[in-house]
Amino acid sequence: MILDCAIIGGGPAGLTAGLYTTRGGLENVVMFEKGMPGGQITQSSEIENYPGVTGDITGMDLMMPWPEQCQKFGLKHDMAEVSRISKEGDVFTITKSDGTTIQAHSAIVCTGSSPRRAGFKGEDEFYGKGVSTCATCDGFFYKGKEVAVIGGGDTALEEALYLAKICSKVYLIHRRDTFRAAPNTVKRVKENEKIELVLNSAPQEVYGDASGVNGIKVKNKENELRDIQVPGVFIFVGNNVNNQTLIQEDGSFLCDVNKQGQVIVDLRMKTSISGLFAAGDIRIEAPKQVISAAGDGAVAGISAISYVDELLN
Ligand code: FAD
Ligand code: NAP
Repeated sequence: MILDCAIIGGGPAGLTAGLYTTRGGLENVVMFEKGMPGGQITQSSEIENYPGVTGDITGMDLMMPWPEQCQKFGLKHDMAEVSRISKEGDVFTITKSDGTTIQAHSAIVCTGSSPRRAGFKGEDEFYGKGVSTCATCDGFFYKGKEVAVIGGGDTALEEALYLAKICSKVYLIHRRDTFRAAPNTVKRVKENEKIELVLNSAPQEVYGDASGVNGIKVKNKENELRDIQVPGVFIFVGNNVNNQTLIQEDGSFLCDVNKQGQVIVDLRMKTSISGLFAAGDIRIEAPKQVISAAGDGAVAGISAISYVDELLN
């Protein structure tokens, strides 16, 4: 059997693509998601910019009903990691990490992005032992204690605010003295008495022992070293796109990507390969928002329906 459409990734983009393709009439649509559906927003402690959703809700709350809504229209979920998407003639082959393959007439890549490492000493060594990239997952371990947050974007500032509710103090360490985060978020951080801004400071080393992290050393513009003694360090320094499934045996990409590895698409989410679409954080110029990822998923789903209709009829 050849699937009408294979969707890789089950975040906001993949789930919306699943909703539109199945509700729009495609048969045999499978969404391959290696974990629980919902995507990276499920790690967020709050979401206040999804239209129509008001109140104090987490990313997990927001995403909870999405899979069931898609399944109602026939979307199948295969809890599997995809290692490669390739194409021969008009048929795509989806290779899973266990080596099994499945064929599809069209494919929508929605594999999103993953937290970037900052690249300082001790970061990898203490990852999961005091160094974290998820405040909602690990913040509770530091209840009543002091923690450090690295970064100056929306994620770092929002998660610093979240951690300030649980922890006794948050050191927000940023390498510049201005932030990328939204002005309102910056204002809330500056007004929060539990957050100390450590600006123009770059992390040098996270240190500790067998029981975990003991602190982080940072260097400011004047080359002065400061030792901040905390048991928890949260790193939010941006994301890398998850484009590995597009890499072919010879190392080339299945479709055109830009220098950052983001997939080049047009306004219909079409890539340079016919029948292959990309949606959400993985695409060029992605605003990296739930609402835009979902919008992309809808566009890609509609485009896939047209493509499959034309191919088979
Ligand atoms: P993702 O959400 O990254 O989903 C991709 C999915 O693909 C994942 O579930 C992953 O497991 C799966 N996957 C990856 N590779 C494979 C593979 N090889 N095989 C199978 N499955 C695979 N946006 C907002 O609009 N408002 C906010 O308040 C907000 N807060 C945020 C807070 C945090 C902490 C973070 C990290 C992000 C936040 N964002 C927010 C951004 C938002 O979460 C993303 O823009 C959005 O989730 C992107 O959706 P996506 O579907 O493109 O990708
Ligand atoms: P980001 O906007 O790329 O910010 C990354 C931050 O980390 C920057 O401040 C950067 O410093 C710093 N940084 C990068 N590499 C570093 C290193 N090696 N060492 C120290 N600091 C480093 O990433 P993000 O905050 O994760 O946000 C990603 C996207 O998701 C953005 O588009 C954001 O708007 C969106 N998002 C939106 C919301 C929301 O709408 N509420 C919430 C979360 C995320 P410089 O500033 O000096 O470059």
